[in-house]
Amino acid sequence: MIKPDAYLAGNSGAIIKMIEEAGFRIVAAKLTKLSGERAGQFYAVHSARPFYNDLCTYMSSGPIVAMILEKDNAVADFRKLIGATNPANAEPGTIRKLFAKSIEANAIHGSDSDENATIEGAFFFSGFEQF
Ligand code: GDP
Repeated sequence: MIKPDAYLAGNSGAIIKMIEEAGFRIVAAKLTKLSGERAGQFYAVHSARPFYNDLCTYMSSGPIVAMILEKDNAVADFRKLIGATNPANAEPGTIRKLFAKSIEANAIHGSDSDENATIEGAFFFSGFEQF
């Protein structure tokens, strides 16, 4: 998911180009906007964290681009491509190093497991409950 800061800065195209050049195939894509409530559902796992309310406000502050991506070893390779959560710690050349504004407004989300990729894909797209 391309997050609101990256979309609003006009970086969606550059980010998608990096994703495709890294060998990922886009199998579903959608420009949409999360309500605060939907953002809260997406990040429910973080509901006890001190930054949760800020995160929900930020994630509903503008459009996002949701995508389902396909590749061998996709989860690990995508985490490598996007870089560390905090752009200050992200490797040079990663999407977050290039485009993130802060640890919160960090340009892009990537699923952290195959299981969560299935859940998160189904959150945005019907018909992708089973890969
Ligand atoms: P990710 O898997 O790398 O996206 O990181 P996490 O799952 O730990 O956190 C989810 C999202 O919450 C991050 O991508 C950030 O947008 C936000 N976030 C994480 N840690 C912090 C923090 O310490 N402060 C704030 N404000 N936001 C955070």
